Amino acid sequence: MKRKLRWYQSIQFKIAFVFAMMLIITLEIVGAVFVQQMESQNLRTFKNQISLQRYVSTNLTNELSRTSTTSANKQIRILLSDANIPSTANTEIRVIDNKGTIRGTNEANNQTIVGQKTTDNAVKKVIYNNSGGSESTTYDAETNQYYYTKITPLIKQSSGSSTPVGVVYIRASLKSVYNSISQVTTIYLLAAIIAVGLGLILSLVISRAITVPITEMKEQTLRIARGDYSGQVKIYGNDELGQLAIAVNNLSVRVEEAQESTESERRRLNSVMAHMTDGVIATDRRGNVTIINETAVEFLDVDSDQAIGQSILDILNIRKQYTLRDLLEDPDEIMLDFSTDDHDLILQAYFSLIQRESGFISGLACVLHDVTEQQKIDQDRKQFVSNVSHELRTPLTSVRSYIEALSDGAWKDPEIAPKFLKVTQEETDRMIRMINDLLTLSRMDSGTQKLNLELVNLNELFNYVLNRFDMIIDSNEQNERSDKHYTIKREFTKRDLWVEIDTDRFTQVLDNIMNNAIKYSPDGGVVTCRLIETHNNVIMSIADQGLGIPRADIPHVFDRFYRVDKARSRAQGGTGLGLAISKEVVQSLGGKIWVESREGHGSTFYISLPYEPYDEGDDLWDEV
Ligand code: ADP
Repeated sequence: MKRKLRWYQSIQFKIAFVFAMMLIITLEIVGAVFVQQMESQNLRTFKNQISLQRYVSTNLTNELSRTSTTSANKQIRILLSDANIPSTANTEIRVIDNKGTIRGTNEANNQTIVGQKTTDNAVKKVIYNNSGGSESTTYDAETNQYYYTKITPLIKQSSGSSTPVGVVYIRASLKSVYNSISQVTTIYLLAAIIAVGLGLILSLVISRAITVPITEMKEQTLRIARGDYSGQVKIYGNDELGQLAIAVNNLSVRVEEAQESTESERRRLNSVMAHMTDGVIATDRRGNVTIINETAVEFLDVDSDQAIGQSILDILNIRKQYTLRDLLEDPDEIMLDFSTDDHDLILQAYFSLIQRESGFISGLACVLHDVTEQQKIDQDRKQFVSNVSHELRTPLTSVRSYIEALSDGAWKDPEIAPKFLKVTQEETDRMIRMINDLLTLSRMDSGTQKLNLELVNLNELFNYVLNRFDMIIDSNEQNERSDKHYTIKREFTKRDLWVEIDTDRFTQVLDNIMNNAIKYSPDGGVVTCRLIETHNNVIMSIADQGLGIPRADIPHVFDRFYRVDKARSRAQGGTGLGLAISKEVVQSLGGKIWVESREGHGSTFYISLPYEPYDEGDDLWDEV
């Protein structure tokens, strides 16, 4: 996720800011200490400069002690004008005696005040309080200047006693002192501003040197995250950032390699999964589908996009019977029936846990195996065994009851005995026929039945079979099936159709279908037999006007032991295996057999066999 950086959030700004702040604080402290020091130094020097030398004050004390005021004043004036006071300070010195009278001033144009009483309260205070002098700095708003005022008492020392004789009042402008300080401060401030400016520029340069490579690396990592590995970060130097850049470049290569290998692994897995005949579903820890392959999608008839994220319990429709905990704790196999009206589908689901090395269960894998065919074969086998047993038990039971009756005395009855014996013989014959049929089927199933293929003229063969049935009609007086009358109609193509078949087996098929046509037709029916050819097939059809086969039974009449009307079939001596054998034979010859029928209107059985017409064939055979 790319978040826009505000300028003040950038490292560049932070470094420059910290740098500038540090400079300012340092310069501020240094400046404050420096100016303070300079101020006190300058003030000390200034005070020294304006204070009267010791001998001057001693002389002044002496002059004030004199009685002659006029000459004393003269002397004071001389003393004051000689006092070595710097003129720059605009200094005013007054000498005042202990009565408060001004006795002298250094100001040449202000001599009139000599002899007047002082009005200065500070001076009065020192004189009258006899205090040790005072010092003060005052601001004069008029001249916009600071003034330093010092009042020093003059004390006459004589024979152990000290008498105050007056004071010296000095007032000097501090202008020169503060001027020089403010000049220095200005220079210092200028220098500081320049230093901060330069510092800022320097810090920007430094921070850029840091942030430019960082920005580039950031861009590169964003590209890697997007899956673009083409870029390389520029390496600016061999410092930490340089090493980081090398590491980022290495990372890009590694990620690309890892990505490629996962990608190819994924593709391999995908193709394996896509081409598997088994369905595969993988889920996360909560049992929600994360992977589902094509086969599983087909099995379960779901949309693969919608399936992802759904619970496996819902997908497999087993929520009622199982919980996710059942599957996780005891992952085993379960049978699922997904049969619909259209098709059967029985799936065996094998579950296993997806575990990490640490033992942490990260999901569930489910393999769906289609066992419909297996189940069907199983079912058929069971059904077959049950059918065989049942089919044999019925005739055996009836044979036994007849034999019992005979042995109970019926054998003596010349009326009943032959009938009973006939029935037992018929039943035994039927059983033998059934066993023979079963043997034939079993041989065909196991593939041990060899086909004796030969090129046969199908028109002739069909005719031959039908002729036999005609003969049965003709000799119907002696025949078993004498109660039935029927007519056989032939609609054959004129062309001779030579087809490669096993004559004996195929004759059996035609016999069987013809027998059925007669068996399941009422008296006096017409059986229409056709033989036609198509582009590469010959089609034989035998149509009767009999009972027909109910629609629901049509798909099953070729099944073993399947009979529409069991009692009727049995009464007719049928085994229920004739059409099953016919189907096997026709299929082994590469052909197809099917039936079309309407209940009550008759049935038509079709056999199609592969046929390669060769036009010159006839001539060729004629010549031979
Ligand atoms: P079966 O020995 O019982 O005749 P088949 O395998 O020959 O055994 O036939 C299976 C069943 O198909 C028969 O029992 C009968 O119900 C039905 N069937 C066969 N042919 C016809 C037909 N031409 N008309 C009506 N039903 C027929």
